[in-house]
Amino acid sequence: MATQISLSSLKDLVQEAYEAVKPQDGGANADYIPYLKNVPSSLFGIAMVLPSGEIVEAGDVDYVFGIESVSKVPTALLIMNQYGADEVMNKIGADATGLPFNSIMAILLEKDHPSSPLVNAGAISACSMVKPVGDAKGKWQAIETFFAGLCGSPLSVIDELYKSESATNFNNKSIAWLLKNYGRIYDDPDMSLDIYTRQCSLGVTARQLAIGAATIACGGMNPVTRKQVFDESLTARIVSLVATVGFYEHTGDWMYVSGIPAKTGVGGGILGVIPGSFGIAAFSPQLDDAGNSVRAQKAIQYITNKLGINIFTNPMLEVK
Ligand code: GLN
Repeated sequence: MATQISLSSLKDLVQEAYEAVKPQDGGANADYIPYLKNVPSSLFGIAMVLPSGEIVEAGDVDYVFGIESVSKVPTALLIMNQYGADEVMNKIGADATGLPFNSIMAILLEKDHPSSPLVNAGAISACSMVKPVGDAKGKWQAIETFFAGLCGSPLSVIDELYKSESATNFNNKSIAWLLKNYGRIYDDPDMSLDIYTRQCSLGVTARQLAIGAATIACGGMNPVTRKQVFDESLTARIVSLVATVGFYEHTGDWMYVSGIPAKTGVGGGILGVIPGSFGIAAFSPQLDDAGNSVRAQKAIQYITNKLGINIFTNPMLEVK
């Protein structure tokens, strides 16, 4: 049976989750990207968006933070929309790596296979696929337009974050050129990496991220703007990627305790999706050892557990 709850009880639940999780300040800001180290650690916000377009939120939902790896989700959708899901499977793949997000070993182990557009290797490969190939400006415009459509309003690059990240992304440079070696970069490697770095440096609010999540939950139809942003058939594909690798080497643990496919970023944001039901996002800068926001994980888990929502148990088929 479906979970039933009134809007006012849902509002109470989100507020309750905020208050329960706010004092829990475990973890530490990302420090390998200098800008992220200085974001105030106490920031914390939760936003939930329903298919009706209703937004339920608590805390710092207007604070603009670095989207980081959550950006891998919209770009994966963009190339699936441009090329079709099968071509993305052929060119990048859809496997979980079970390894950290920036793993070079994952590339070596799978020989020539970046594995999934939701880890660094696959995401850099995805940026190389974005059309129009060979045209950095055109590619960036395609990304900006797609992200704005998904999240319901434009995102802007946090300049200081982009500079900070560009000056320190040595590991990602190795990934880009290793992929080139294996024939898995489909445009200029340095340009593809620059686009990846720029998309990671986009500023986003928890509210925008939750609207993006809800657009995925609603089969590509943004529930706030009522615009169709991507082909409906891609929802199952993107949610499968999020479910298998959204928390990198901790994805299994996360799915086991929360039951909701979710994607994290080292900026402290997490985007979660229950197809057909809602999109959710939470943000707080302190991370665990795998680079996943401690408070954001707890908040989303608190809400889904209390709702009894779980993609593995809720019956989806009612035959009459
Ligand atoms: N831009 C970051 C990186 O490539 C994103 C990592 C993340 O959010 N997990 O290292």
